Amino acid sequence: MSDKSVKSDLLVVGAGIAGITAAVEAAETGLSVILVEQRPYIGGKVAQFSKYFPKMCPPRCGIEINTRRLRTNSLIKVVTLTQVDAVAKDGGRFKAKLKVKPRYVNDRCTACGECVKACPESRKNDFNYGMDDTKSVYVPYEDAYPQQYVIDPVSCKGTSCGKCVEVCKYGAIDLSEKEEIVEVDAGAVIWATGWEPYDAHKLDVLGFGVYPDVITNVMMERLASPDGPTAGQILRPSTKQRVESVAFVQCAGSRDENHLEYCSSVCCMASLKHVNYLREQNPDAEIHVHYIDVRSNGLLEDFYSAVQKDSKVHFHRGKVAKVVRADKSDRLVVESEDTLAGKMISNEVDLVVLATGMYPSTSSLPIDESLVDRNGFLKSDGTEVIACGVSTEPKDVAAVVREATGAVLKAMQVIRGN
Ligand SMILES: Cc1cc2nc3c(=O)[nH]c(=O)nc-3n(C[C@H](O)[C@H](O)[C@H](O)COP(=O)(O)OP(=O)(O)OC[C@H]3O[C@@H](n4cnc5c(N)ncnc54)[C@H](O)[C@@H]3O)c2cc1C
Repeated sequence: MSDKSVKSDLLVVGAGIAGITAAVEAAETGLSVILVEQRPYIGGKVAQFSKYFPKMCPPRCGIEINTRRLRTNSLIKVVTLTQVDAVAKDGGRFKAKLKVKPRYVNDRCTACGECVKACPESRKNDFNYGMDDTKSVYVPYEDAYPQQYVIDPVSCKGTSCGKCVEVCKYGAIDLSEKEEIVEVDAGAVIWATGWEPYDAHKLDVLGFGVYPDVITNVMMERLASPDGPTAGQILRPSTKQRVESVAFVQCAGSRDENHLEYCSSVCCMASLKHVNYLREQNPDAEIHVHYIDVRSNGLLEDFYSAVQKDSKVHFHRGKVAKVVRADKSDRLVVESEDTLAGKMISNEVDLVVLATGMYPSTSSLPIDESLVDRNGFLKSDGTEVIACGVSTEPKDVAAVVREATGAVLKAMQVIRGN
């Protein structure tokens, strides 16, 4: 961002599907908008999904349509690699301080990729949840917006290496860039900071981090994605072999007072979607779904009913007690209750997928703790706090888009002093 202080009708914090929707809806009514995103690209978690339930279409189509609306609207300014450090109300306006991290690659970048070939360092690829690596200079994913490289300051050796600078014929790389502070004066703020996956390492009996073939639902999205670490093949991380059997552990840490006491509302549908991913690749795979109860509200029941017709998908009602290594093979054993049969069961499988819940990304926001509920979700009251998306409670994308559009109406009322 070149200006050190900017005035705008609306500041939107977080550029997932909630923040993008709010920004384009607001700008299309004539409001000027600053859309702030902490990652180097916009789109949030949805950009990391292979397909959407219930239509099973690629989410990137929707992101691309919204990105076009956003790119072609001169009222919207997108600022990536940025967090809001402070917000204060001042005479009916909001004064915010943005901390803008360096990208080290400027607008002259044509994404030609010569810097990647020259870069000798690498980093864990967070877009793929650490399942592969990228070079220290990287483009987050192939359709990322902005379509511009970024340098990871932790793994990059900086000016002591400088090989990327030498090969960049456009002069697009500046390793001496520094963090900047930008002041924003806005008429209203919409918080759309979304969620993070609950940390599966905390679920010690379920083997995440101990056995490589125990993964989480968000990792499954990347395994099934054509641009993921296995080019869309759902393979066992340990052997890179095709998955012949899988167990889905529903409510992994959810509805549990020791972890997340609430239901994340989408995990059942996400796992049923993952059953479809697997079935498309392997018509014979045996699939076990361990559930407490399957939540598929409204028309999503049809999606559930279709999966139930598959004779190789076995639903077991009951909590999973533990996941352990099998005695005589390299597979995993899922030990679980079956409350309908009234007995303990154990299934040997190639892969275990933990359906971990959504945890609100609000802990570092510069807002009063009274505006956050006991689980960390924002209490959106339409005046003190206007928020949308999963920052207010877990929900699917259709509900996020509706709430984001409503949040814009509330913001307009605040801007007009109602
Ligand atoms: C495994 C799984 C599969 C799913 N599949 C589907 C599906 O198929 N269909 C469906 O409808 N829903 C699905 N969902 C739900 C869907 O992921 C959410 O509804 C959606 O991500 C919510 O979007 P959001 O914008 O609120 O949050 P996010 O996608 O989390 O976006 C929030 C953005 O805000 C940014 N941000 C956070 N904090 C800050 C800050 N302080 N400053 C600046 N930026 C910040 C983040 O980096 C992020 O880009 C699934 C959920 C899971 C767990």
